[in-house]
Amino acid sequence: MKELKDGFKRFAAKADREFYAGLNSAQHPHTMIISCSDSRIIPEYIFDAKPGEIFVLRNVGNLARTEESSVRACIDYAVRHLKVKRLAVLAHNQCGAVKATEDKEHLDTEGLIKWLEKEEYTGDSLAEAEKAQAVRQLGKLMEYPAVKDAFETKKLEICAFYFNLDPISLEVFENGSWRNI
Ligand SMILES: [Zn+2]
Repeated sequence: MKELKDGFKRFAAKADREFYAGLNSAQHPHTMIISCSDSRIIPEYIFDAKPGEIFVLRNVGNLARTEESSVRACIDYAVRHLKVKRLAVLAHNQCGAVKATEDKEHLDTEGLIKWLEKEEYTGDSLAEAEKAQAVRQLGKLMEYPAVKDAFETKKLEICAFYFNLDPISLEVFENGSWRNI
């Protein structure tokens, strides 16, 4: 616990208390991001966003598993209540979840098997598989009524991002293809 306690003390010592006080009554995030749980991938860092700006759902492999109630609850709340302007899937390079789907032998616990066994690995390289997996999530999101309705009435933009750690880069998938930002 020491790492966390010390970390909080460092955070609290330098936190902008006025800014946090301003967040106390409500949140008005502009974007919802579905990100991987991977500790190296921090959406707020990548998009240089402050607390209150991004509503985040994180799970292993940044999956838009809309058949799961926790995923539905998160999307419903962001889109219908908070009325975020955009919904993005944030995929990344060297994703352990995508790697594990190439060889299902890597799925060695009940939790991982249940979560990832039906995921596909498509493409000739890990990067291709990671990007294809992100695009599949967009397809799933577009079938989900809360997202579909908001998108069709132009209240919601939807896209996927692909973040590369080394060298740092970001690609966006819009209108059917990936391009560098
Ligand atoms: Zn990952």
